[in-house]
Amino acid sequence: MIEFRDVTKQYPDGTIAVDKLNMTVDAGAITVFVGPSGCGKTTSLRMVNRMIEATSGTILIDGKDIRDSEPALLRRGIGYVIQQAGLFPHRTVLDNVATVPLLSGWDKRKARARAAELLETVGLPAEFAKRYPVQLSGGQQQRVGVARALAADPPILLMDEPFSAVDPVVREDLQNELLRLQGELDKTIIFVTHDIDEAVRIGEKVAVFRKGGVLAQYGTPAEVLRDPADEFVASFVGRDRGYRGLSFLEADGVAVGQITTATVGQPYGDTKSEWVLALDEHGRPCGWVAPESKVDGVLRTDGLVSGGSLYTAGTPLRGALDSALSSPTSKGVVVDTEGKYVGVISARQVLDLIENHPRLVSGS
Ligand code: ADP
Repeated sequence: MIEFRDVTKQYPDGTIAVDKLNMTVDAGAITVFVGPSGCGKTTSLRMVNRMIEATSGTILIDGKDIRDSEPALLRRGIGYVIQQAGLFPHRTVLDNVATVPLLSGWDKRKARARAAELLETVGLPAEFAKRYPVQLSGGQQQRVGVARALAADPPILLMDEPFSAVDPVVREDLQNELLRLQGELDKTIIFVTHDIDEAVRIGEKVAVFRKGGVLAQYGTPAEVLRDPADEFVASFVGRDRGYRGLSFLEADGVAVGQITTATVGQPYGDTKSEWVLALDEHGRPCGWVAPESKVDGVLRTDGLVSGGSLYTAGTPLRGALDSALSSPTSKGVVVDTEGKYVGVISARQVLDLIENHPRLVSGS
């Protein structure tokens, strides 16, 4: 647990970067500091490992004032990941990761074995160990950065815009990877970003900062989206926050309807006047047969109209709405966790579910 008590940072030029910050960061969870540029997120983060010293106030880690710990020692228990990974260019990937264990006095063989294990943990193939950072893509370098921060197995991880420099697809991979890793590692993570979507996606708690280093709101992503503390937070989380909020509404008991289906590779029968959902031999949707299509005997994949997104039953409602809106037939296709067809749902049904959702109706 990390506690900020009345923590203020004023730079020598008079700038107040962080203004009387009071908050408790939960142990074993991902807490995201989010807000526009210049609102004190990085300064708040770096005060935790004493790269920046607070002007006043106290920061406690597990009840202990960080000023009582020697900075170098303190940092051994705190992994640090920055944008563009900050790798040593003239060291191999393996040696980059082994750096911290070596500094902690491990012998070379043990440090390298640990580094190899960590590369696997962050999803990098073993042959990358001998390469140099410049031979890796941005996303791969970022994975090395995470591996390096985890090398000494610190209980705390500070991540400063770690995924900002990679393209959106790689970024999503890295976010998923971080969530997967965290599921195994249970670190106390503070993650800085200016991207509200990233914040609500990975944060168990979100701290929204505003200019002047003021904490505007601190809560779960659902709380911040549903009930912004003020105008600033409301405009920062965006006008589409209602839509984002759907990410947190689970769709229990979605009443799915049924439609006509046909299996690829099987005889099709007569021409149909309605849309028919095509399934593969495992029962997984693979496209639509348009009304009045003439199918010559057996149903084949060529000539199918491609479908929209699929909605996995039991996952948040955002996916259900998306499946309906992206479907060529306006019916979203619902599948089970194995991807097999379960039924269909319309946008109207999703909207009804949202209107009657207990979490919205009770306002809890
Ligand atoms: P964020 O991470 O939210 O972008 P920062 O913590 O980097 O914000 O900066 C907060 C404020 O402090 C900004 O106004 C920034 O210009 C100012 N600042 C940051 N570092 C220094 C410094 N070394 N000297 C003076 N002002 C600084």
